[in-house]
Amino acid sequence: MFGRTLFSLSRRTTLAGQHVRFNSIAPLDASKLIIEKTTTPKLKLPKDELVFGKTFTDHMLEIEWNKSTGWGAPKISPYHNLSLDPSTIVFHYAFECFEGMKAYKDINGQIRTFRGDKNMVRMNQSAERIALPQFEGEELQKLIDHLLVLDKDFIPEGKGYSLYLRPTMIGTSASLGVGVPDKALLYVIASPVGPYYSSGFKPVSLEATDYAVRAWPGGVGDKKLGANYAPCVLPQLKAAERGFHQNLWLFGEESFITEVGTMNVFFVLRDSKTGKKELVTAPLDGTILEGVTRDSILELAREKLSKDEWIVNERKFTIHEIKDAAKQGNLIEAFGAGTAAVVSPIKNIGYKGEDINVPVVLGNSGELTAQVAEWIRKIQYGEEEYKNWSRVAKVSA
Ligand SMILES: *Cc1c(COP(=O)(O)O)cnc(C)c1O
Repeated sequence: MFGRTLFSLSRRTTLAGQHVRFNSIAPLDASKLIIEKTTTPKLKLPKDELVFGKTFTDHMLEIEWNKSTGWGAPKISPYHNLSLDPSTIVFHYAFECFEGMKAYKDINGQIRTFRGDKNMVRMNQSAERIALPQFEGEELQKLIDHLLVLDKDFIPEGKGYSLYLRPTMIGTSASLGVGVPDKALLYVIASPVGPYYSSGFKPVSLEATDYAVRAWPGGVGDKKLGANYAPCVLPQLKAAERGFHQNLWLFGEESFITEVGTMNVFFVLRDSKTGKKELVTAPLDGTILEGVTRDSILELAREKLSKDEWIVNERKFTIHEIKDAAKQGNLIEAFGAGTAAVVSPIKNIGYKGEDINVPVVLGNSGELTAQVAEWIRKIQYGEEEYKNWSRVAKVSA
């Protein structure tokens, strides 16, 4: 049977091969969902006591996969510990990938997710890179909708409040052999979160980091693999000891600016020749995580900013260019971009013992930073409809 599948895969075109592979074993199917409700509902924390990722909703979603039968029946059940053999492959060789997305309650009490289809695509790309199974994104989105509707009372209301969703996939084969996992678990947990900035923006100070590298060409920095994150914590600790909030990750001899902490990074520069303002971020060259927020900012900026005054660019740029721009008064503002904070203004960059001051003309952020935050917030909370970026969670009874 297995031999025949391989045979037909190798004889057909890629598309047909995909077809064979998806049909020979069970695809992810949201209609098979089994729901087991909690009998001991948790107390909900007051909104002002919410801490990112510390408390979770009453339920979680799980789907097991195995090589011979494919995706099993999805299950939503009370939040619980996992029980895994100590030899399980995820613990030894980091077969783990994850996503970060949010659900928001709009003013009509509807539950919305923001561009979750992008997270599904990205998660499949991450899974593929570490030989974990792929799944039908729309089916996982439907299952997430079910979880959201069931745990809707955990989604805090109000500006800046949301439910952080953490889709996760792990290899669960119990074996110390390094190889393709024959079992996996896809699960989703959800944590109520408050505004990243509870009383207005707080601009951060960065240490431009050249002694440690976050990602490199041919590596996996463009995938959301757990293995990418642990090695970045020590450099952050070191930066913190020197008084900086986060690392500005540089790459290569040229000291290209890539990302900040676990966010993409944008700069606004004035072009002294044309007088135009340039919004610039690093291109997706394999060393940059393809942020949904990054993509959203680029698209909205290209649509909304006046073409007479602005240029929006994805291009390589270095810390030296930023330093020179600052010296000439052409550095206008800078911010990090990611799901957790949407945007995070930058006020200072320490580089080789010197400080590059980044203007924050509004006091705690630059003008575009504040504007971008509003554009995205309005779409997330359904105050403005933009394309299909906001999905209302609905489940048929
Ligand atoms: C998740 C992540 C981002 C931001 O991605 P979003 O989809 O916007 O949340 C940026 N950089 C890194 C390294 C990340 O892990």
